[in-house]
Amino acid sequence: MASIFTKIIQQEIPCEKIYETESEIAFLDISPWSYGHTLVVPKHEVAKLEELSVEEATALMTSLQTVARAISNAYDGADYKVLLNNGENAGQEVPHVHFHVIPCPKGFFFNSRNRYNYAEGEMAQTGEKIRSFLK
Ligand code: AMP
Repeated sequence: MASIFTKIIQQEIPCEKIYETESEIAFLDISPWSYGHTLVVPKHEVAKLEELSVEEATALMTSLQTVARAISNAYDGADYKVLLNNGENAGQEVPHVHFHVIPCPKGFFFNSRNRYNYAEGEMAQTGEKIRSFLK
């Protein structure tokens, strides 16, 4: 069965898209650890990083860098975490490889139990803000 991320890629499920190439998509995490938390996902559905070809992994890293830079700039040059849960025992819930990019503005304290909720319209505003730094 297709992963939830493949369903997003195939536009069966909506997302707040940040960036897309032929081989990757990036969209806001629906249950973020901080505002702007974004997932960078290869379109080839595999569970683990090592299952991607070298070319796919290289393209994924390039998109990750592009998206991470835009996120940092959108949050005044904020630091950020890049996280990959590679497999179930590492905490992976969606078995489709993806990098989390989690903005860490000054004073932010990361706690994996603290998930935020976007208010009505806030996800779209956040997406627009980050996308404006890709241009
Ligand atoms: P992981 O535990 O590394 O597999 O992370 C999966 C992430 O996917 C979690 O942070 C979820 O909040 C996020 N997620 C699950 N469903 C969606 C969705 N429909 N749109 C955006 N993010 C999602």
